[in-house]
Amino acid sequence: MNPFWSQTARELSPYVPGEQPRIANLVKLNTNESPLGPSPRALEAMRAAAADSQRLYPDPEATELREVLAANHGVTPEQVFVGNGSDEVIAHAFVALLKQPKPLLFPDVTYSFYPVWAQLFGIAYETVPLDGDMRVRIEDYRRAAGSIVIANPNAPTGIALPRAEIARLLEERRDIPVLIDEAYVDFGGESAVPLIADHPNLLVVQTMSKSRALAGLRVGYAIGNAGLVEALRRVKDSFNSYPLGRVAQAGATASVRDDAYFRESCARVTAAREATTHALVRLGFVVLPSSANFVFARHPLRSGPELAAALRERAVLVRHFNKPRTAPYLRITVGSDDDIQRLIAATADILRR
Ligand SMILES: *Cc1c(COP(=O)(O)O)cnc(C)c1O
Repeated sequence: MNPFWSQTARELSPYVPGEQPRIANLVKLNTNESPLGPSPRALEAMRAAAADSQRLYPDPEATELREVLAANHGVTPEQVFVGNGSDEVIAHAFVALLKQPKPLLFPDVTYSFYPVWAQLFGIAYETVPLDGDMRVRIEDYRRAAGSIVIANPNAPTGIALPRAEIARLLEERRDIPVLIDEAYVDFGGESAVPLIADHPNLLVVQTMSKSRALAGLRVGYAIGNAGLVEALRRVKDSFNSYPLGRVAQAGATASVRDDAYFRESCARVTAAREATTHALVRLGFVVLPSSANFVFARHPLRSGPELAAALRERAVLVRHFNKPRTAPYLRITVGSDDDIQRLIAATADILRR
């Protein structure tokens, strides 16, 4: 251990992002990136923003972006907060809202960044087991708690709760802040945004990384009661006043304005997910019902680590989480038609051996 590390740095166990390796001709299905490009209008806006004005700081409030997001979601700009990827937005929410005297609750199988932030910010947490079908059960969140975070659709299962179930959770837990992480909602989930009007304790977080194919730009946002957004802003302005550069603000704003491209992209990825699911089922996989841009699948005759390693040898990269409940599964991003064909061919080859 380096002697100059702080106690905080020594005690961290950081999140491990999916690999971004440099392997020739790789089929990259491990980080839920979009197989489609961003909106051409977003790219055009980013090129236009790469200009002499870069010498000036960006708008610290990202006013125009917040205005288009507000119009898009039927809320006011005061109800919208933007940040450098939804990871940053969620991290701010952990500090601003979820850090309470009683523990934070989240599912035992979910986005593995949640326990990392809890540790970084000194937030006590308890995990709530998914049921036998790997589903979130709202009744299990009646215990003593200071706050709740749920990814919906959940990751890495891909399973979505209907809006009515989130409404039931909010009815039962009017007493504490509830964060719904909707990173994958655009692929068939039901957003909780319409519930914000009646629930001043609800914060909904979305990202441009998946459904808008802008993972490289790093833009995420939260929508909630203006009072909650004010708490996020207080944390942001105590950390980094300019989280989004000029290029990011311009590209994100143009992406939101290009609704036709967005809808078309989501429909294409959703159709490709169904094709991937059917092909995997034909090979004998058990595939959880996904409302995301990935599928979570296991094969009754082959272990998760074995399949992941054999696919990697064939230059097909998928994500494997080596924890007891997730170990049998592979999380496979819905790729391009060509990616899917190569995944299925490689998998069929592995299963023949
Ligand atoms: C991808 C993802 C995020 C973060 O995405 P950003 O690229 O930081 O916006 C947040 N939550 C879940 C569940 C995700 O899968």
